[in-house]
Amino acid sequence: MAGILGIKSTQNVSRKLFYGLNSLQHRGQEGCGIAVNTGEDIVRVRHSGLVIDSMKEDVLDSTTGNIGIGNVRYAMASTSVNATGEPFFGFTKGEKLSIVNDGSLINHQLLRTRLEEEGMMFQTNSDTEVILYLIARYYDGDIIKAVKKAASYLEGAYSFILMYQDKLIAVRDPNGFRPLVMGHKNGEYIFASENAAGDILGMTFDRDVTPGEIVVTGENGFVSHRLKDKEEKHSFCIFEHVYLARNDANLEEVNAYLFRWRTGKILYEESPVDVDLVVPVPDSGYPAAIGYSQASAIPLGEGLVKNRYMGRTFIKPTQEEREIAVRLKLNPQYHVVKGKKIVLVDDSIVRGTTSRNLIQNLRDAGATEVHVRITSPPVEYPCYYGIDTPSRNNLIASQHSVEEIKEIIGADSLSFISLDGLYRASDLENRDIFCNACFTGNYNVDPCLL
Ligand code: SF4
Repeated sequence: MAGILGIKSTQNVSRKLFYGLNSLQHRGQEGCGIAVNTGEDIVRVRHSGLVIDSMKEDVLDSTTGNIGIGNVRYAMASTSVNATGEPFFGFTKGEKLSIVNDGSLINHQLLRTRLEEEGMMFQTNSDTEVILYLIARYYDGDIIKAVKKAASYLEGAYSFILMYQDKLIAVRDPNGFRPLVMGHKNGEYIFASENAAGDILGMTFDRDVTPGEIVVTGENGFVSHRLKDKEEKHSFCIFEHVYLARNDANLEEVNAYLFRWRTGKILYEESPVDVDLVVPVPDSGYPAAIGYSQASAIPLGEGLVKNRYMGRTFIKPTQEEREIAVRLKLNPQYHVVKGKKIVLVDDSIVRGTTSRNLIQNLRDAGATEVHVRITSPPVEYPCYYGIDTPSRNNLIASQHSVEEIKEIIGADSLSFISLDGLYRASDLENRDIFCNACFTGNYNVDPCLL
């Protein structure tokens, strides 16, 4: 997962990129970078760590230009952030191209091998570099034609922003796995993973870039093209609404906060429990816990205090780090949970490590019963579309029944929302827009291409 951003303005964009990337920081904390077109050159700054620690005043002051792109990202277990850090940048036929991307190509190894056989050399093992090379290869003066041709070889998930001359070009894969939205204000244009980046800059959120769409910043607004004539099955990652996006994200016409709040209400309808207190696992568990509390009339209590300066637990590269992170990240409130029967509301169980530690910590703090309600169905299958979930062997729900998971994590009871319940939480008439492969194994783009 990554957060991507592109801004075209009539003023210097480096500070706007800085602020916008801060609002996308939840999408990746291990690395960040910007590329700004100064008019004469592309200046790139890439760094490991948080945006606020990486892009100091002197860096922003020395990076001036009216168009730029940026990203935040997380590290995969086997890669170094600096080695794979975006934006990528290259020259082709006298033009400079830079790119940021969110997603994961199913066939990247195949494409890479073919390109290497033709003599191309890669600096990293990133999918994004492959996309950039393909675009460069097919560029003959017509950038839209080159993007379409390159995309015709891509299988899987990608949302990318390309900086070309004085234009930004936003592209979303034909299935629309990963988010990408667009907005504007007085001659300024923005593309971003989530609307928060534009909101904080006072820009108007226009809409999602639709699956299979190419949107270009033109002289008088946005110009839209299609990657190909044929539509593919819309497969927006439902986990964006369960967990990944910010509460204020409006993606695919669904507000993440309301979605989460409705999952809590539906969870209570599906799996009521008689307890004294509803305790959210912060942050994405909050809206669902509020929904559960309102539906059940059981009071809500802040039984866990979050250390807000920690990254996400499931994206830490090693198991040992993940376990330390859980202990550091959430501390039980002794005075809130002591002597109480509680229901803990969380968004997912991946390996089970977080849940097991949390439940033990809550019992140590005096909770007499800990029931668990989860706002996603059991995650039984890995994601091949950009979310760094573990292999099947390490997904607790692929190896164990719900009853067994309950025993392993030490809960008094455990229920997951049904898939139908999750879809109902979207409140959309057409609920057939979501990818649900990690719950069902129904992959809309065949991972056998890997
Ligand atoms: S497999 Fe799961 S995490 Fe991956 S894109 Fe689909 S819904 Fe999202």
